Amino acid sequence: MNRSDILTLLFETPTAELRERAQEVLAREKGRHVFTRGLIEFSNVCRRNCLYCGLRAANSHPARYVLSREEILAQAALAAARGADTIVLQSGEYPVSAVWLAEIIERISKDLRLPVTLSVGEHSRADYALWREAGAARYLIKHETADPDLYARLHPGWTLAGRVAHLRTLTELGYETGTGFMIGLPGQRPESHADDILLARELHAAMCGVGPFLPQKDTPLGRYPGGTAELTLRVLSVLRLALPWANLPATTALATADPAKGQTEGLLAGANVLMPSFTPVSVREDYTLYDDKNRVDIAGAIRAIEAAGRSHSLKLPD
Ligand code: SAH
Ligand code: SF4
Repeated sequence: MNRSDILTLLFETPTAELRERAQEVLAREKGRHVFTRGLIEFSNVCRRNCLYCGLRAANSHPARYVLSREEILAQAALAAARGADTIVLQSGEYPVSAVWLAEIIERISKDLRLPVTLSVGEHSRADYALWREAGAARYLIKHETADPDLYARLHPGWTLAGRVAHLRTLTELGYETGTGFMIGLPGQRPESHADDILLARELHAAMCGVGPFLPQKDTPLGRYPGGTAELTLRVLSVLRLALPWANLPATTALATADPAKGQTEGLLAGANVLMPSFTPVSVREDYTLYDDKNRVDIAGAIRAIEAAGRSHSLKLPD
């Protein structure tokens, strides 16, 4: 599949045909099971200033927090009890104590026997190696956009090449590495999604999370329109065709862009992963990547999966 095949699929193939092809590949490669990742957003502290994100360092609005080790472990135990298949530990990018995080990873992977995925931004090779040794199996770090000029404008002081180098380092260290990107960023050319898909394929990404850009009012991009669920779903279907092996989540951002049916539509478009939130209610309001975030809870995840006619291992509380 080359760039022009991908462009045809993205912008010319009728939606119903694209979806049917994606569902065929999905059923063959991944079966009916939808994997659930219990998402714990353990800190909103961040040193970076990504133009789109409400957690950027320059935003003084959110009250900054770091959950304690005990709080994180309690949420992970809750996710395990509800049948989550893995735990995702996510945070802003800050100089987290590598040893502290390693200990938490070890407790979750050894005591709860749940694979741990990290989504904590860019760190040193030594820290990545320590966390890998502690038992972290997967690492998510999205390339965000494969357009190098746009990447540089959105991330002052950082480059796409640098981001990709981190992805390669993580793969070298034995992580299953996940990338991803946003749809409808201000200044993003729709054709550049073909490059996003080619980059994810070149990296042989084990996971690829695609979601619409959503404005956050306290950021420099707060007045721009968000990306559409429609284009996000088409991109998701093309990703399923181009990366048949990959785990593709129906993202929370997609659920926010289309609260009524975003998750179900994502599953029907080719996704096989959902990420219900296990972030404590007391801090959720301060984890403001974007506005009006639609938290996917267990009951919502079960509804979405069943509406798509698929299976899961989630359990509601008795
Ligand atoms: N700090 C880490 C992980 C947390 S941010 C990192 O940046 O890798 C997780 C993801 O949230 C980012 O990769 C980005 O794709 C998404 N995100 C941030 N702001 C967003 C916005 N305004 N709209 C949609 N997605 C956003
Ligand atoms: Fe920080 Fe991640 Fe938001 Fe960038 S996207 S400002 S690194 S939390």
